[in-house]
Amino acid sequence: MSDRSADYIIRGGLVVRGTGITREDIVVKDGKISANHGNYGDADAGRIIDASGLYVMPGIVDAHNHPVYADRIETFSLSAAFGGITTVIPFIANRRREGVEGTVSDMIREFKEEAADTSYLDYAIHAILLGDDDVEEQVPEMMDMGVISFKMYMTYPRRGMMMPDDRMLKAMELASERGGIAMVHAENGYCIDYLVDQAIEAGNTGREHYAPSQPRVLEIEAANRAATYAQVTDCPLYIVHLSAREMIPVLERFRGEDMNLFGETCPQYLDLTNQKMLDFGALAKIGPPLREREDNEAMWTGLSSHLIDTIASDFCGHKKSQKASYDHETDPDEEGSIFDATFGGNWAEQMLCVAYHEGVNMGRITLPRLVQVMCENPAKIFGLYPQKGSLDPGSDADIVLFDPSVRHTLSAEAQHCIADFTMFEGKQVTGQPVMTMQRGEIIVENGIMQRPKGRANFLAGNPDLAAYAPSGHKVM
Ligand SMILES: [Zn+2]
Repeated sequence: MSDRSADYIIRGGLVVRGTGITREDIVVKDGKISANHGNYGDADAGRIIDASGLYVMPGIVDAHNHPVYADRIETFSLSAAFGGITTVIPFIANRRREGVEGTVSDMIREFKEEAADTSYLDYAIHAILLGDDDVEEQVPEMMDMGVISFKMYMTYPRRGMMMPDDRMLKAMELASERGGIAMVHAENGYCIDYLVDQAIEAGNTGREHYAPSQPRVLEIEAANRAATYAQVTDCPLYIVHLSAREMIPVLERFRGEDMNLFGETCPQYLDLTNQKMLDFGALAKIGPPLREREDNEAMWTGLSSHLIDTIASDFCGHKKSQKASYDHETDPDEEGSIFDATFGGNWAEQMLCVAYHEGVNMGRITLPRLVQVMCENPAKIFGLYPQKGSLDPGSDADIVLFDPSVRHTLSAEAQHCIADFTMFEGKQVTGQPVMTMQRGEIIVENGIMQRPKGRANFLAGNPDLAAYAPSGHKVM
């Protein structure tokens, strides 16, 4: 029996943290990053991993995903792992609209059982509070379960999802009292319904009418309103999937008032435009809609100027056939109404490659900034840092080796989820994750999943470590 003192030594790589890039070896022992990395010789390690020519980064923390459709946590986490993601934070909601009894905390308990058996990656959970949830009962119950973040929809009133403003204020108050964090999908749902009705009445149900039915001003209005409510209730607020260029001044204004306000954007809002909707119709339908090139550039500026804090995927795994309620094969001329198509896209596996290529290779953000917004900040905001999102001694050995020289083409064929298309199809990028490790176990190597499913841990968010807490970690 060997009494070697390290499980792995990752040798010769360029180690990337939010504070900068250093050439150093990373020692992994008992699932953690070990200190004293200078003191190990080759003979001390179970395996030496040659990382020369590679970046060594913390695993990506994807703080926004919905593995509750065709892709559930099993195939979503599989796909995410191949994309360099090591921690996921799915959104869970009650399912009364589908006729499933139970509260959101019941659904969270059910999800944890499913994830314990099938997830490939460690996970925390965000709750979605829908309009029919009893927030007085649910917020304290979930905080006790380690679920400290609560998303509310300001849109989709007719789908039974919108949280009325008075209930949102109550939920923010309850969350704030307990160290929780509110999250919003900021779009004005009544205006969207009004504009969609008008479009349908006029017979304007083609793909070109989708973006005009969900204009930018509705995102700006809702974000201002949510931030105002958060200020009144003194509740930290995280606005998901920012898309419109005018959101930058909104963030600037409320940040100036010393609010705990955080902003997220997604690879689709950084790189794709409404042209995808015009080209692919239902497959490109997401809310908020894909916008224009100027909006993409504004999201990058927001990231580089530290007004936008995170990049997350907003993964929803639908198959092509589930995205549209019509069938091109049997009736190629019948496109159907864009307003009947399903929302969502699968953006997780390509997220790092797109953000690296468009962000770092194109000079829009630095590599340390990428690590801040994809690893450190999401872990800090949701109370998981420094266990996750860090390469410092004592942190979980969740590591990505990234080869910045590999040129490849993104395609649905190469992805590992059930969703059978990608809006990044054909995009050429340089840079690719080549190995991922979680808690000192290799997950993906040589393009193969190495670790069986069901070895994932549930991560309780710690309100005392969250970014806004007095003792919390500062978001960079
Ligand atoms: Zn979402």
